[in-house]
Amino acid sequence: MAHLDHVVGERRRFTVLYVDLDDFKLVNDTLGHSAGDDLLRHVAAAMRTLVGPEDLLARQGGDEFVLIAMDPPDADRLAERLLSAITQPVSLRGLTVRVGASIGVACCPNDGSDASALIENADAAMYDAKGSGRNQIRRGRPLHTRDRDRDRAALELTATLPQAVAHDELVLPWQPLVDVADLSIVGLEALVRWNHPERGLLYPGAFIPFAERTGMITAIDAWVASAVTRQRHAWHTQGLDPYVGFNLAPQYARHPDALESLLVRLSHGGLGLDHITVELTESEALREDRRLLEFAHGLHKAGITVSLDDFGRAYSSLNRLREVPARWIKLDRAFLEGVPENDVATEVLTAIIDLLRALRYDFIIEGVEREPQRQLLSRLGVRVAQGFLLGRPVPADDLHDRLRQSPVCHRTPSPETTDDQTDRPDHAHQAVPALAS
Ligand code: C2E
Ligand code: MG
Ligand code: MG
Repeated sequence: MAHLDHVVGERRRFTVLYVDLDDFKLVNDTLGHSAGDDLLRHVAAAMRTLVGPEDLLARQGGDEFVLIAMDPPDADRLAERLLSAITQPVSLRGLTVRVGASIGVACCPNDGSDASALIENADAAMYDAKGSGRNQIRRGRPLHTRDRDRDRAALELTATLPQAVAHDELVLPWQPLVDVADLSIVGLEALVRWNHPERGLLYPGAFIPFAERTGMITAIDAWVASAVTRQRHAWHTQGLDPYVGFNLAPQYARHPDALESLLVRLSHGGLGLDHITVELTESEALREDRRLLEFAHGLHKAGITVSLDDFGRAYSSLNRLREVPARWIKLDRAFLEGVPENDVATEVLTAIIDLLRALRYDFIIEGVEREPQRQLLSRLGVRVAQGFLLGRPVPADDLHDRLRQSPVCHRTPSPETTDDQTDRPDHAHQAVPALAS
């Protein structure tokens, strides 16, 4: 950094552009590391065409680059040209690949006065760009105003959430749960996004925490349950009936009529409930909060499978686990970090899998991003996993062909049940035979 400050010297006008490639990991994982290296060389060469004699271009590590441009006439224009240069198609191992990039821009003196402050600022702006849907450019802000701006943006976002639900600005892509051995789809998870009219596609991390704090999460989760039902009807007309899961926040579940109104939404139009999984995040609250526990028992009794999400992310008290009527455990993706290259990480994962098997849980491994991970899981006899390697969250229509090719997802010809689902016998343990790990 001292070197940078030296290079920048006494100049009062320079701009830092922080560039991070989107989906570089995907190229590395699917085409191999040498293809990844070729891509980096290609990107560096494309960026160099825009670098002036006094500018400085450096690779910050991995797939991150920093460009310090001296006195650029128009910093925004430079960022746009940079993005366009990077996103040109490139031929790698016989495939034409187009990677996106997220770029953060910070200008001296407005956004900071020295190189390190500006790099930090541009880095934060780059993260903003990633968070709001990738392949974008974001301007940095002076550090002291950034928190205030963020708070204000959060407030604005929260205020417009009710409108978002009412105006159908929410969208519901689906991520497949996949058979590790033959890659067929054995189920799907609905993951909500907000198609914000001004800010573009927002991921749950950008609005679910605020929605939880303000109580709006109840409206979001109710919308999700209805959207799940609508999509199930659409699949039914296509002869498909995949196992579907969706997430519910504890705040939703604590609501006094939560169970009743949820069952009404899910069985709207006469749909049966035995292909449904509700994912509740594994937490101390789930075991300690009577209302939440009762809600989980109510789901189980209605024939809905309860899944414990993100297992192992917080601390998981195994001796109390039995109190939650969960059939499935979704192992948090943190357990795959470093696997299979790191022996200790691999041993921990193997031990957890053995333990879940001994406790007779069915389980799903979350976050499979690389082929060696899939191969290891296959060797360990794991049946079902989820992750970017096996399928990203995509609109339902994009899954049509894969669902058709996955026998488990075909609709059985048996007549639809319209019974009062809450009176059904306790049979959740047979509800998802196809998914047993
Ligand atoms: P989750 O239920 O654990 O969902 C899995 C998250 O991991 C999703 O993020 C998914 O896109 C991401 N993911 C899947 N495979 C991979 C992978 O291979 N690598 C990596 N790095 N990530 C992967 P997303 O969609 O951003 O959702 C985040 C969380 O937001 C969800 O975690 C869930 O807790 C919450 N959420 C999503 N939809 C809803 C909803 O409708 N209602 C409620 N209450 N919460 C929701
Ligand atoms: Mg989930
Ligand atoms: Mg999860």
